[in-house]
Amino acid sequence: MLVLDHVGKVYPNGVDALQGFSARIGVGEIVAVIGGSGCGKSTLLRAIAGLGTATSGTITLDGETIAAPHEKIGIIFQEPRLLPWLSVIENVAFGLEGETRARRRKRAEAALDRVGLLDKADAWPRELSGGQAQRVAIARALVPRPEVLLLDEPFSALDAFTRTDLQDHLLDLWADTKPTLLLVTHDVEEAVVLADRVMVMRPHPGRLFEEVKVELARP
Ligand code: ADP
Ligand code: ADP
Repeated sequence: MLVLDHVGKVYPNGVDALQGFSARIGVGEIVAVIGGSGCGKSTLLRAIAGLGTATSGTITLDGETIAAPHEKIGIIFQEPRLLPWLSVIENVAFGLEGETRARRRKRAEAALDRVGLLDKADAWPRELSGGQAQRVAIARALVPRPEVLLLDEPFSALDAFTRTDLQDHLLDLWADTKPTLLLVTHDVEEAVVLADRVMVMRPHPGRLFEEVKVELARP
């Protein structure tokens, strides 16, 4: 279980981006956080990813305090952020540590196959479309089998067709190992389509405003 207890963030320049955000998110839940631009959604995700430490409150995963990047927590951003000097397969294998080269390659291939891009294994990131690159980013995030996957506006840079396609694909992949998904979006429809639970963040000052339970029959 991921537990956020009064998480707050004041940036060094004094911007009070997030205040007293609390939530308990169970294993395998899909939770969306929606809210307008600037309400603190990215700040919240970065704090959970251990990328920008919270300045108040605590974040724990299965009782363990999270204050730095953690192998059990993966993150996907709006842009794929692939490393341009590595091939597609090397990008996917990047997060796998402590395994032989052959084993890493095999696992990365399986993940690429799962997102339908095995034929692009030896391509360079610049040779991919935006949607393909984001699929590679999803494969890279999922290949270490994280317990929690954080998604920060993962589809908002894509056209509507590609977006719907990737949303379906994400749910498919989620079903493999059922990690906890925490999705930040400003797209209400996306939140309702994907999530079991939607948290609405108040524009200012970055507080949890309301929680809506979405009834959705998921196979
Ligand atoms: P959202 O993701 O909901 O658009 P953010 O978390 O990006 O919101 O931003 C919340 C607030 O914090 C905004 O006022 C933004 O300008 C500010 N902010 C975000 N990142 C930083 C930063 N690195 N330094 C200072 N202020 C920041
Ligand atoms: P998004 O909402 O898509 O995550 P943002 O525009 O909020 O993107 O932030 C993009 C980057 O700019 C982030 O790394 C964030 O930390 C930084 N940033 C955002 N707002 C500010 C700010 N007011 N001061 C300094 N850095 C900021």
